[in-house]
Amino acid sequence: MFLDSLLGMFSMDMGIDLGTCTTLVCVRGQGIVLNEPSVVAVRKGTNHVLQGGNAVGLVAKEMLGKTPGSISAIRPMKDGVIADFDITEAMLGYFIRKAHSRRSVFGLRPRVVIAVPSGITAVEKRAVLNSAERAGARRVYLVDEPMACAIGAGLPITDPTASMVVDIGGGTTEVAILSLADICVCESIRVAGDDMDESIAAYMKRVYNLMIGEQTSERVKLEIGSAAALEEERTMEVRGRDMISGLPRKTLISSEEVREALKEPIGAIIDCVTRTLEKAQPELAADLVDNGVVLAGGGSLLRKIDQVLANATGLEVKVAEDALTCVARGTAVYLENLELWKKTMESDEHDF
Ligand code: ADP
Ligand code: MG
Repeated sequence: MFLDSLLGMFSMDMGIDLGTCTTLVCVRGQGIVLNEPSVVAVRKGTNHVLQGGNAVGLVAKEMLGKTPGSISAIRPMKDGVIADFDITEAMLGYFIRKAHSRRSVFGLRPRVVIAVPSGITAVEKRAVLNSAERAGARRVYLVDEPMACAIGAGLPITDPTASMVVDIGGGTTEVAILSLADICVCESIRVAGDDMDESIAAYMKRVYNLMIGEQTSERVKLEIGSAAALEEERTMEVRGRDMISGLPRKTLISSEEVREALKEPIGAIIDCVTRTLEKAQPELAADLVDNGVVLAGGGSLLRKIDQVLANATGLEVKVAEDALTCVARGTAVYLENLELWKKTMESDEHDF
């Protein structure tokens, strides 16, 4: 371990947030060095990554709009679990190599900490470990995503007091209560930002007979979406295809309507948070009265979602600073303190 720490001073060790929407890589002293969509372009019906394995991330996303029928873009982590091992491996390998190649000193292989969803199975963990090793990591450690999130948000997780995080990503929402550097209670649901987009698309279909694309519905959410009434309600023009005539058409929708559309996914997120609280021991629950709840992930940036969760739980709720990079920054801090966390981490020495 001593030798390892020594090597660590020279190799470009990295923390990775393997998100369902976005993958981020954070390097000590350099901050976020890679921030790309978790997307891979493959030849349709195969798991052959295009461009010799390089059609990943931004490159793959750029191809998205312009792809001929024979190419499809895959988000291998879409639901917070690994849908396709080979493609995940190709993606992870590409990101590690890309983040590492420009920075390695003396060609030393890096140690890598990867944040994975807390609900992932042992087989999936093994796959992530193996992929990272094959991609050139000297040593791989996995950390539960809520843990990395709490560290990144600067919560006092090593103290004997409860901290609570709600990470609303693209595919999953992870809720956890932590104390003494461990997860006491956690819940994970496959409802998050993507489902909000889907709900908006379904609403447009139902109410306006208008089919809209994924990217359009996300834009609607970002521009006028909210979880509770806004001081100033807004409207937005939305373009799509009329389901009856089959022709392109546009229509105006209001932030009230979007809120109506978002009721279901937001209700599911609220339920998940309250369910987690109900499972907490009374002492931990008592701590949360003082400590409150921290939100992170892209979904936490939806207008007023903090307010809605505060109303539902009666606790103080605030959005973490730089909510999108919380987990990645947390993995880098975790890496710096590996010795300290050793007790709670899972490394490649583990048997699954
Ligand atoms: P993951 O960790 O799963 O990769 P992220 O934490 O990057 O996910 O969050 C991605 C989700 O957050 C997407 O569904 C995106 O639409 C949503 N999102 C990003 N910014 C905002 C915003 N300002 N308001 C609402 N949703 C947002
Ligand atoms: Mg995330």
